[in-house]
Amino acid sequence: MKPDLFQAPDYYNLDELLTEEHKLVRNATRDWVKKEVSPIIEEYAQKAEFPNQIINGLAEIGAFGPYIPTEYGGAGLDQISYGLIMQEIERGDSGIRSTASVQSSLVMYPIWKYGTEVQRKKYLPKLASGEWMGCFGLTEPDHGSNPGGMTTNFKDKGDHYLLNGAKMWISNAPFAQVAVVWAKDESGRIHGLLVERGMEGFSTPETHNKWSLRASATGELIFDNVKVPKENILSNKSGLGAPLGCLDSARYGIAWGAIGAAMDCYDTALRYSKERTQFGKPIGQFQLQQKKLAEMITEITKAQLLTWRLGVLRNESKATSAQISMAKRNNVDMALNIAREARQILGGMGITGEYSIMRHMMNLESVITYEGTHDIHLLITGLDVTGLNAFK
Ligand SMILES: Cc1cc2nc3c(=O)[nH]c(=O)nc-3n(C[C@H](O)[C@H](O)[C@H](O)COP(=O)(O)OP(=O)(O)OC[C@H]3O[C@@H](n4cnc5c(N)ncnc54)[C@H](O)[C@@H]3O)c2cc1C
Repeated sequence: MKPDLFQAPDYYNLDELLTEEHKLVRNATRDWVKKEVSPIIEEYAQKAEFPNQIINGLAEIGAFGPYIPTEYGGAGLDQISYGLIMQEIERGDSGIRSTASVQSSLVMYPIWKYGTEVQRKKYLPKLASGEWMGCFGLTEPDHGSNPGGMTTNFKDKGDHYLLNGAKMWISNAPFAQVAVVWAKDESGRIHGLLVERGMEGFSTPETHNKWSLRASATGELIFDNVKVPKENILSNKSGLGAPLGCLDSARYGIAWGAIGAAMDCYDTALRYSKERTQFGKPIGQFQLQQKKLAEMITEITKAQLLTWRLGVLRNESKATSAQISMAKRNNVDMALNIAREARQILGGMGITGEYSIMRHMMNLESVITYEGTHDIHLLITGLDVTGLNAFK
């Protein structure tokens, strides 16, 4: 793979909206990605393997629980710093960002928000340091966009719960030590349970043959009469709103992350367009290629502004789920379109692993589907503006 020459576009001087702390966090993550992710990511994506050796580094830059309070081992940062960390990691690879997102927003967040003090003290420091990795089991083979229909369930057996069912498409599953599992009780209400590797009847087979997020490990969670200790239930929130609260936090991170992938594709294509000559001119001098690049930087700038504003609202605890849906949907779609256009600017070279664009493009096909598909987020906006529910 070519050396990482990334230069971040900032067409509207958005750096002026960031604090010194934001810039420090962003630059530290950017430097770390250049040093630790860029040189190895192509090889790991090609062999479809998560690079375990970067776990400690991810923990050190604060990527595991950026906004979790320091008393639990988190970095205690604000929502914009969290977003900037996700942006920079996804600039390197969406699969690595997925691992960090799951750990922070889908595992640490529910333990912090819905768990007991004993659970917080037991799990959060280990997850923040990367000593333990976690995963989040919501999707099932027959229930993806409609998680409320889940059939994974548990029964109260007096001194423990008995868990049965299966989850599918679970990021980090093959190596996670703890799974946050969403399951229905005997009355049909959804609760979160902390299921640890090694519990009898719990297995995590890996999902193979993905053409997307190849550097992220994905698997199933199978529960065959698993005895879960009663103290492992997340008792402070139940119902579908509990997992959806986690998804708000993760989708917000994805909205930032997608900008990172888009910036990398744009920056690569811009540089290539000035270096590559055809018909005696740099291809960047042709109007058709300029149109592509001009539209890319316009869309990136709009997404940056949208996301920065969403971060301000999140910091003030004022961002709605529907606002987060809009940003996730817009930014991932924007990034995927930019990846496709950037790939064309590189011609044949664009399909090779010499450049990051094709990997970003394939990754983004998952990102546009997970954490609520492109269609589902559109329906969430539709419901929000009309008050009419298309899901019923
Ligand atoms: C690589 C990867 C990693 C993932 N990681 C996780 C994870 O860590 N944890 C987890 O719980 N899940 C995870 N997922 C699952 C992901 O969230 C689901 O794939 C996603 O929610 C969509 O569900 P589905 O694949 O079952 O598609 P379906 O729900 O079957 O949807 C298929 C199509 O139908 C459309 N559709 C569905 N309902 C409607 C409707 N009402 N109106 C219009 N169109 C509709 C969808 O938009 C989509 O285009 C992951 C998925 C992938 C690919």
